[in-house]
Amino acid sequence: MLTETDKRLLRVAYDEAKAGFDEGGCPIGSVLARGGEIVSQGRNQRVQGGDPIAHGEMDALRKAGRQKTYRDTVLYTSLSPCMMCSGTIVQFGIPRVVIGDTQNFGGNEDFLRERGVEVAIANDPDCIALMQRFIEEKPELWAEDIAE
Ligand SMILES: [Zn+2]
Repeated sequence: MLTETDKRLLRVAYDEAKAGFDEGGCPIGSVLARGGEIVSQGRNQRVQGGDPIAHGEMDALRKAGRQKTYRDTVLYTSLSPCMMCSGTIVQFGIPRVVIGDTQNFGGNEDFLRERGVEVAIANDPDCIALMQRFIEEKPELWAEDIAE
């Protein structure tokens, strides 16, 4: 289900997540790609930018700037998208999402699939382990990010 290109680009999303972790932020990274090429990459900016809306996916999409279409893009994210980001994926017509980790957070995969988005779940050990470490070490920050 995952191509070598998928694995390579998901790794970039993970590297963004890890950089966010090292900055003291929420370790969630994302890549927008077209034809196997990176359009933009970003990471959660809750702490670094004081921006609660700048999830990894939103940061990547913002950095991509205006796009004529998203119909030929793939969004990679280290962690399963929240409802805000899932709504944006549907709104922008992004046809395919590759998710590193659905174990630490998830639940919107069916929402995406029901709206015609192809969802590929990687179960990436590095993405999962990084989120587990973050949740254990900074439970309050995690609770804040998922609004619990
Ligand atoms: Zn989100």
